[in-house]
Amino acid sequence: MLQVKNLTFSYDKSPVLQNLSFEVAQGDHFAIIGESGSGKSTLLKLLYGTYDLDEGQLFWKDQEILGPKHNLIIGPEYMKYVAQEFDLMPFTTAAENVGEFLSNFYPEKKKERTQELLKVVELEEVANTKVKLLSGGQKQRVAIARAIAKKPEILLLDEPFSHIDNFKKQSLRRSLFAYLKEKNITCIVATHDKEDVISFSDDMIVIHDAQIMAQGSPEALYKDPKNKLVASFFNEFNMIDGELVYAHQLKVVPKSKLKVIVQKSYYKGSYYLIEGLLNDSKVFFEHKSAFEKGTAIYIEKE
Ligand code: ADP
Ligand code: MG
Repeated sequence: MLQVKNLTFSYDKSPVLQNLSFEVAQGDHFAIIGESGSGKSTLLKLLYGTYDLDEGQLFWKDQEILGPKHNLIIGPEYMKYVAQEFDLMPFTTAAENVGEFLSNFYPEKKKERTQELLKVVELEEVANTKVKLLSGGQKQRVAIARAIAKKPEILLLDEPFSHIDNFKKQSLRRSLFAYLKEKNITCIVATHDKEDVISFSDDMIVIHDAQIMAQGSPEALYKDPKNKLVASFFNEFNMIDGELVYAHQLKVVPKSKLKVIVQKSYYKGSYYLIEGLLNDSKVFFEHKSAFEKGTAIYIEKE
C-alpha cells in the first residue's frame, strides 16, 4: 500500500499542496485529477521523491519514500515515473530504448520481452526506427514501454496519452491498463482527461485549492459529484433549482414546468447536444435529433 500522510509542499511561499492524505492499495489504479496548475504533476514528482516535503510522510509498504536530502539518486528502484515531458535516447531505436534496462545476459529473453512491451504500446511496426524520427505520440508510447520494462511495483504516469491521437488512444488505454492489472502493477495517473479514468481507475482524487476536494471511485463521484468542478470533469451539466443535472439526464417531454427555447444543436455522433434558454439562463441536454433555433420545447429530469 502507498500511504500519503499529511503532505504539504511549496516551491516558494504559498503551498501548492496542503495537508493531503490518501492511500492506494497495491495493484490499484488511482487517478489524480484537477484543473491545470492544481498540482497534479507536483504530487507525482513528490511521490517519486523528487523534492523534500515541507511536512508529512510517504510510505510504500513499510519503507518511507524520501527526497533528495536523503537520497543521492532520485526515485526508488521499485517505482517508475513517466514525466509529461518524457525523456528518451533520440539516436537509438524504439526497441533499444525499451530494452535499455533489461539484462543482456539472455539475449533471446531480452528480445522476447522487448517484443512483448512494444506490443502492449502497439509499436511493433516501428521497433527498428530511431526515436528522433518518431511522432510525439509514438515517443510517449516508447517512454511508457521503457518504464514498465522491468515490471516496477508502482508506475507513475503524468498525462500519459496527451500526445497520442484519437485513432490510437482508445485501444492503447485498454491494452496498457489491462497489462498493468495483469502484472499487479500499482498505477497512479495524473490527467485532465476523463477517458483515462472513468473505465480504468479504482479510486480517484480531485485536487483544488491545494487540497483534496473529493475522493471516491469514478462511479461514485460521477453519480454524486457534490460540486460543479467534479461534475464538469465528467460531462456537460446544468444547475436546475439548485440541483446538479447532467445534460444526458434531461429528456424532451410533451409538457413540463421547464420550457426551453432552443439556441443551437451540436452534432455529437450518436446524439445532438442541444443548447437552449430556460428562464433566460443556458441549459444543455441531449437529444437524438437537432432542433431549429427558436423552437419551444419542454424538458424533464428522467
Ligand atoms: P498541474 O500538473 O496540475 O498542471 P503543476 O504541479 O505542474 O500542476 O503545478 C502546480 C503549481 O506549481 C503551478 O502554480 C505551477 O506554476 C507551480 N510550479 C510547478 N513547477 C514549479 C517549479 N519547478 N517551480 C516553481 N513553481 C512550480
Ligand atoms: Mg501537469
